[in-house]
Amino acid sequence: MERESFSNDINKRLDSFINQNYLLDNEPRTYLGASAIGEDCYRLIWYNTNGLHPDYYPSAQIVRRFQMGHLMEEVTAKLFKGAGYNLLTTNEWSTQFGFEDLDGKIQGHLDGIFFSSNESILQHNIPIFWEHKIMKDDAKYKKWQKLKENGVQKSHPNYYSQIQFNMGYMRAMHDGFSNIRQTILTAFNTNTSEYHHELVEFDSNYAQGLVNKAYIIATTTNVEALPRISKDREFYKCKYCAYRDTCWEGK
Ligand code: SF4
Repeated sequence: MERESFSNDINKRLDSFINQNYLLDNEPRTYLGASAIGEDCYRLIWYNTNGLHPDYYPSAQIVRRFQMGHLMEEVTAKLFKGAGYNLLTTNEWSTQFGFEDLDGKIQGHLDGIFFSSNESILQHNIPIFWEHKIMKDDAKYKKWQKLKENGVQKSHPNYYSQIQFNMGYMRAMHDGFSNIRQTILTAFNTNTSEYHHELVEFDSNYAQGLVNKAYIIATTTNVEALPRISKDREFYKCKYCAYRDTCWEGK
């Protein structure tokens, strides 16, 4: 058997397994999660949080990237702990730290929290939240370089919004975290295996704007009442949207 076809045959079988199991492992979401709040299109967030199956599922390659993100988060958390940081990734009930609002219609989960005894990073002994992301060192968009040069707010506004949303809600809903004001974003470069860590300060106005946005989307029952991001279905974000048929053709 030729070398290429030998590899292709195995890959076909692996991809097929991923595609079949993606549906079983990923029921459509029925809540608005913090990771979605930074998305520009209100309708997309609504579709993504109201139990709708998408028109298009991610490729096996993309699914593997999601899995890589979860695995690297575990690896990085172990590294922090091994290096002496007091990082907790679960609470006393062995679940992620997080919050719920509107009877669970809005939710957020934290990757971890740095607690006291980390004098090297904690100021005034106030815990710091932790958010972990993997990133490509992409030659075209140069997001990794932009993160390092300009910070997450400019390079990855979605991640920045997720971080602010989590801090805003945790401050409001958990007495123990009402004074939280910082999150460490750890980014792992999947090309070079480098890490970059950024301290993100809480911005109450920005967070409140996101909470207002979440309330509008989560309490809307008719998606037609929400704006599309563009009037042109050929707009680049619409072309890649997993709900584009539902949105434009009412499928
Ligand atoms: S197709 Fe465009 S307008 Fe419709 S939900 Fe997706 S991004 Fe929004």
